[in-house]
Amino acid sequence: MALNASTGGLCTTPECIRIASHMLWSMAPNYTEIDPCTDFDKSGLPDVCAGWDAHTQVPAGLNSIEVIVEQDQQITWDVSQMLEGPYPSGSNIGWVTESLSKEQAEVDKENWALLQKAYNTCMNMTATAALDVKPLQAFLEDLAKSFPVESGSQKTDLDAFAKAVVKLQQFNIQTFFSATVNLDDLDKTKYVPVFGPPKFTDIPAGTDQATLKLLTAYAAAILQAVYPGNLTLDAATEKVTQMLEFQTTIDGMAKLGLASDPVSLDPTKLVPRASQEEINATAPALNFPAIFELMAPKGYKPENITLLGQDYMKNVSALVAGTPPAALKDYLIWRATLSLAEFTISDLTKPLNDYRTTIKAQGLQYGEAAQWRTCVKNMESGPSLVNSLGPIGTPHTLGFAISRFFIDRYYSPEARKQTDEMATNIQETLGERMLQKDWVANKTKTAIKDKLDKIVHKIGFPESDPNVLDPASLRDYYAGLEFTDSYFANTLALAGFGVNKTWAQLGRPANPKAFVLATPMMVNAFYQANYNEINILTGWQQFPIYDKGFPSYLIYGGMGVVVAHEFIHGFDSQGRKFNAEGEKADWWDNATVAEFTKRTDCFVEQYEKFTIAAPNGTQLHVNGAKTLPENIADSGGVATSFEAWKRSMQKKAKRGGTSSGGDCRQQNPKLPGLEKFTDEQLFFIKWGQTWCDNRSPEFAVTALETDAHSPKNGRIKGSTANSAEFLKAFNCPNKKPTCELW
Ligand SMILES: [Zn+2]
Repeated sequence: MALNASTGGLCTTPECIRIASHMLWSMAPNYTEIDPCTDFDKSGLPDVCAGWDAHTQVPAGLNSIEVIVEQDQQITWDVSQMLEGPYPSGSNIGWVTESLSKEQAEVDKENWALLQKAYNTCMNMTATAALDVKPLQAFLEDLAKSFPVESGSQKTDLDAFAKAVVKLQQFNIQTFFSATVNLDDLDKTKYVPVFGPPKFTDIPAGTDQATLKLLTAYAAAILQAVYPGNLTLDAATEKVTQMLEFQTTIDGMAKLGLASDPVSLDPTKLVPRASQEEINATAPALNFPAIFELMAPKGYKPENITLLGQDYMKNVSALVAGTPPAALKDYLIWRATLSLAEFTISDLTKPLNDYRTTIKAQGLQYGEAAQWRTCVKNMESGPSLVNSLGPIGTPHTLGFAISRFFIDRYYSPEARKQTDEMATNIQETLGERMLQKDWVANKTKTAIKDKLDKIVHKIGFPESDPNVLDPASLRDYYAGLEFTDSYFANTLALAGFGVNKTWAQLGRPANPKAFVLATPMMVNAFYQANYNEINILTGWQQFPIYDKGFPSYLIYGGMGVVVAHEFIHGFDSQGRKFNAEGEKADWWDNATVAEFTKRTDCFVEQYEKFTIAAPNGTQLHVNGAKTLPENIADSGGVATSFEAWKRSMQKKAKRGGTSSGGDCRQQNPKLPGLEKFTDEQLFFIKWGQTWCDNRSPEFAVTALETDAHSPKNGRIKGSTANSAEFLKAFNCPNKKPTCELW
């Protein structure tokens, strides 16, 4: 079919030319000959990602190259370049630096020095290599001293044991349990401690025998060198074999515990809670009173402790009670060695570290990431040790301090305002759409609208706890955090800071303005049900997904659909089980639930039909049930953002916004090379291209099992087949959407 050209001016600003070129480069070269209504099969829309597939290659240290990965790479590189340069001066002074008083600038320079110290130490691989495994050795000696064991003793001193466990837990090195702090499911003004089974990612269950043998040899060589006291290689090998077995037993218990845990099976279920007495009675050998004493803020009285996998805690406590203290001690040494070897450079640790890189790549070896990337990532998102502290990672890293300097150059108050205003427009549009749904009973409709109106927008970066625009606020936030010339010590300092900040939340009222889930530069946007908030981070608001100078059809087609997608998560098959206060509750009438389910069944069936090719050529189907929340959000996001875009255009027309001027957004001009497409078509092309990715078949299979989202063909084809506006924009013969909900 022919693509309609419409008249209008051409946008030739640098950002328009840049995005036009990126879009053309990403799509199929013969896009004009492709019928988007029937030829969806390759990459969606008029083959929107065929060029991307042909031109991109997966960078070292990664297992796929997606648009958002490309964006993340760019941000990480920009940050590394910034940290390698001087404090902002001359032409590198941005809007934040400009706004500082002389006194503020002094403090700002101290914050900058903290960042540069961390970065430069990490980059100095020669110095790290010169230390070899010495820092790990010293760490283990200290650990061993805290847990003295008499030879032949069968009785464990539980206080010394707890102290040694905390010596690792304070850096989030997991031994017998995982521990973190979350908002209370039933009262979101409070934080509660959360305990669960440990998650071991270093040597996953099911590792084949040949690999295990190799790993045992690698680990034994390290252990022989770092073990407190002398070990022969044979003795080290024996210890590693025993500890691998012990860890496998715990891992097995953890899996069993989680398999029977109601929350793990359905995250919308209420989590089991326990008092400190109860948790202590369940797992006496783990000595939770001592753990609280050592880790929680002084005077904190634990209540409503969340306990995941209750059976696990009981079983592992029995295992600890029945294990001689010498073996417990060896296990702690083993866990520390495995977790910390990554932060040394040594011929001894290299084989194991290389193996872990492979594990991180989910079975695919793509080589080591460049050191600048490792350093920026460790600073921005925290070392791998603390990645499991929150649902998205831990924000208690150097991410806030870095973002102060990043937004100075790469973000603006205008971009933030534009995105916030768009979010408000989308929120209002969605509200009106929801009120029109005749399958929702009136009472539930009112409650749904109330919840939608209460969704908080967190756009860009925080201005509270810490205020990243205020150097003094940042200095206070990082008070006590110091770096030295040792990369190993700095990593522990940063991990310890993250854990400490996390635990410090206990007993303090939640600050609704703080960014407690993510750091500003993460290329991420998300809805968090228990906070009833959306986060659209600075990292997300970067090229190619976004630029404030894009024409409005690209802003709404790219960023807008994502913003709408996040709002709709509050009303998908999981989000709808949380009320306006972010608490788990049953707040819909039964008839509406039945109508909702009827409609979501359509989505499950629709997405099950999408497939990806496994390395051996077999077609694997998408799990329609597992990806349901994301698919609901995609389809509703496309429909809502499209309508919100049209509304914004009408509002602008009323205000006379289409008059002349240099602002490309106001006039909705054409993009060079893309004149053949209508604005509506470009809206959908932008949406499709947000999800371009180039994955190896091996990684595609892994992602099919682990990712909550559908693969790109499902995301693009499913959501557009569900959009009446898409079918109209491309003049498709079939005008009826396959499935509709919001
Ligand atoms: Zn989502």
